[in-house]
Amino acid sequence: MVSRVLLHLCCGPCTLYPLKVLREEGLEPVGFFYNPNIHPYREFRKRMAALREVSQVRDLEVIWHRHYGLRDFLREVVFREEDRCEVCYWLRLRETARLAREGGFEVFTTTLLYSPFQKHELLREIGEALARRFGLTFLYRDFREGWRKGQEEARQLGIYRQAYCGCIFSEQERYDKKWRRRRA
Ligand code: SF4
Repeated sequence: MVSRVLLHLCCGPCTLYPLKVLREEGLEPVGFFYNPNIHPYREFRKRMAALREVSQVRDLEVIWHRHYGLRDFLREVVFREEDRCEVCYWLRLRETARLAREGGFEVFTTTLLYSPFQKHELLREIGEALARRFGLTFLYRDFREGWRKGQEEARQLGIYRQAYCGCIFSEQERYDKKWRRRRA
């Protein structure tokens, strides 16, 4: 039976529920923070600090990619802004799969499967495609069923919960009323 899993972590609050589920299944997740999509810089630092708190409270080993990836991310999505989430998933999950193979993990997955705001089926497709490419298993779970529980736990722990997905485009969608009216 496989017990070591490389778990891509998008942020602290979204880690709580998937971690609990995987541990209840007898698995031993090791976290991996790789999120060049989080902007601006102070938000990136804030989310890392929130995840550090979660890792300490829940005794989770985390492999950190601390480099602020604004430029790398923008180079990938420029002229593809409308399809940027797909590009973003490929970017983050490809790096996770690569590290899993290098690190001797046979299985990988992501806390992105916890969010009801992500394109869930697309994440699954990309995870499975990468698993085939790298000779790994993508551990698919629908963590969305624990959305409320996880958010409540984060609130009780006093963990910072972000107001937008991550990239500067999603920040505008969240706060720019004119932009929202255009999209409606
Ligand atoms: S909205 Fe979220 S998933 Fe989509 S590109 Fe931005 S950060 Fe990535």
